[in-house]
Amino acid sequence: MAPTKQRLLGALLGVHAGDSFGAAHEFDSWYTIQKNFPPNGNIPRAITGGGPFKWSPGHATDDTDNTRAVLLAYSEVVVKATADKEQYGTEPTDTFLSISQTAGKHMLQWYSGPWPGRPDRSRPKDVGGATSAGLTLFARAARQDPRKAGAGPGRCGNGSLMRCIPTALFARDHERLVQETALISAITHNDWRCILACVAYNVMVREMVYNDVTPDTAVSKALEVLADPETSDTIVAALTVGSAAPDTSTYDANRAEVEAAIEKCRGPDFDVGVLANVGPQKAELKDGEKALPLAGNGYVLESLSLAVGALLDTKRSWEDLIVDVVRVGRDTDTNGAIAGGLVGARDGLDAIPAEWRAKLQFRDEFTKLVDQICG
Ligand SMILES: [Mg+2]
Repeated sequence: MAPTKQRLLGALLGVHAGDSFGAAHEFDSWYTIQKNFPPNGNIPRAITGGGPFKWSPGHATDDTDNTRAVLLAYSEVVVKATADKEQYGTEPTDTFLSISQTAGKHMLQWYSGPWPGRPDRSRPKDVGGATSAGLTLFARAARQDPRKAGAGPGRCGNGSLMRCIPTALFARDHERLVQETALISAITHNDWRCILACVAYNVMVREMVYNDVTPDTAVSKALEVLADPETSDTIVAALTVGSAAPDTSTYDANRAEVEAAIEKCRGPDFDVGVLANVGPQKAELKDGEKALPLAGNGYVLESLSLAVGALLDTKRSWEDLIVDVVRVGRDTDTNGAIAGGLVGARDGLDAIPAEWRAKLQFRDEFTKLVDQICG
């Protein structure tokens, strides 16, 4: 397999593998994991299923399901555009809203079914609060416009970061990557921290998958994009409907928070292995601040820090890093998914253990969709 395809599938199935692996420990604190798996939180290095929702091994949870929703949108829109070009010789006619509207439609399908792997007329058992609020608004919005949805400022969980990766892999160009990432986040999570965390994450993934840069360079590029005034202009324009522009009063302060969440991972004192071994209550940065003050409970910028911290730990394998991200505790499936995708873009598909990959519910479908989109 070509190296680019390795990294592309490593990113996409890295989300699924991290999610399905972490699902067995969802909501467990670091202390609970330490107590249940002696010595020192020695969790099984296998996709076991279980957890509070009693998943079968390899079952997708909301993280992978919603990643699938976004992936299906790219498949439909990109495949149609390619077919039109072949048949009529026309350039793609999709608008910058097409992908996000189609992604939202598939998220609604997940929210109210039917959906693969679920009994008929059943709802998903693990819907986040902002996701539920955002999708309800999206369903009611005129022409199902993502710009008229979103749970609003202050709702800053990791529920859009966990499913943003297909845009890094399939957006047509840089402007589209920024627009589509922002709009797809805004369907449910339109707090600037969520939107900007998704943009930074997707820039890192794209740089590693397509430009084969080092993790450190990918992180620098993401910070450069965040600081670029064109990025804020593009995002604000994408989220403006007619004369109704989004409230930008907190944009700069929120952007500084996202930058700080990334920057703090660059020092040797932010160490995913230490966080997993001594626990988020004790792991400190050199200034005495806690490395993860909320202990990995689902705040978008903590999930981003954990993923970037894992990415920059270049001496350790995908498996070792994702096991440690999950051992930190709390939102283990989503933290595993977000880090799994980012480190998967670094290390490629073969770095994910073969026994883990073999269990993934959507492995074959995701692989087939990638082939369709890539042509
Ligand atoms: Mg989940």
